[in-house]
Amino acid sequence: MAIFVYAESHDGKYKKAGLEAVAYAKAIADVAGDTVTAIAFNVTESSDELYKYGATKVLKVDNAALKNFDANSYAKAVAELAAGEVVVVPSTNDGASFAPLLALKLNASLVTNVEKAPTAVAPLTVARKAFSGKGIETVAVSGKAVVTLLQNSFGVKENAVAGSEEAVSVSVSDADAKVKVTGVEVAQTGAIDLKEAEVVVSAGRGLKGPENWGMIEELAQLLGAATASSKPVADIGWRPHAEHVGQTGKAIAPNLYIAIGISGAIQHLAGVNGSKTIVVINNDAEAPFFKAADYGIVGDAFEVVPKLIEEVKKLKGVA
Ligand SMILES: Cc1cc2nc3c(=O)[nH]c(=O)nc-3n(C[C@H](O)[C@H](O)[C@H](O)COP(=O)(O)OP(=O)(O)OC[C@H]3O[C@@H](n4cnc5c(N)ncnc54)[C@H](O)[C@@H]3O)c2cc1C
Repeated sequence: MAIFVYAESHDGKYKKAGLEAVAYAKAIADVAGDTVTAIAFNVTESSDELYKYGATKVLKVDNAALKNFDANSYAKAVAELAAGEVVVVPSTNDGASFAPLLALKLNASLVTNVEKAPTAVAPLTVARKAFSGKGIETVAVSGKAVVTLLQNSFGVKENAVAGSEEAVSVSVSDADAKVKVTGVEVAQTGAIDLKEAEVVVSAGRGLKGPENWGMIEELAQLLGAATASSKPVADIGWRPHAEHVGQTGKAIAPNLYIAIGISGAIQHLAGVNGSKTIVVINNDAEAPFFKAADYGIVGDAFEVVPKLIEEVKKLKGVA
């Protein structure tokens, strides 16, 4: 059973989601007793980075038509190279966009939002997040499968192998692109990508107004975290929509999610309940979020957060 994986990159470097996908592909290969072949587009970084997570072979494509993402071009290029039974794709914006087309081109089944190592390979049996995160569905796929891996779900697990790379070409040209990028405007520089973040500091309507986000940003900065928010906060314009997490926003699964002044409605939980550790700060001991919390602080955010900042500063030796 040959296992392929799309190793997503940005600006010539592998993304964390790409490395996690390679680690996941290796977990499938270990059950199948086979090896992993990774597919990389326009990457300048060393392939050692992929051998570390379990790719025995790295197929490197250098093609100008793949510089900007286009679902049709990416699906076509991966389909030309992935001559195997399973193709793993990270469930990033790009991955989730081209995986259905890839499945179509390969005449394969598509299994989305997979989050755990497979329990069997004949047939491939994997667990996927279902019902907005309230359940886990186990599916068995006969025949070829394209599997999208939920970000931050499996972990970027090292599983080093001896590997080799090969420069390959694909028949993709600019004419294959159905959507062309005509301009890019960077809205935020230096910010940590919410979907890739290990730590997320999130706040809701309990913060009373946008002028009170200074302490949220300070805590996030000290912890090397991304900031997030509940939906109403983004709807009223206190925070950018890109920060909205939940059923109708981004689904995230960081190692640590700190929820401040957020009630914990099911629609919010749907996007964050994959987090490894959840800390809730709320002044209402009956707030539903405490049921999903690993650690809870019943208290006023305006007292608790500054104290937390003070303690983190002491620990880090920051004035
Ligand atoms: C179809 C649908 C989809 C939705 N999708 C989403 C989604 O994707 N994401 C999402 O977030 N919501 C979503 N919602 C909205 C969701 O149901 C909740 O209304 C929303 O999550 C509540 O946001 P909140 O917790 O910030 O505000 P509130 O419900 O107003 O809660 C504020 C919390 O802050 C606490 N608080 C107040 N003052 C303080 C203080 N000083 N210190 C500490 N705590 C304090 C309160 O006790 C309360 O628990 C959706 C709703 C629907 C119907």
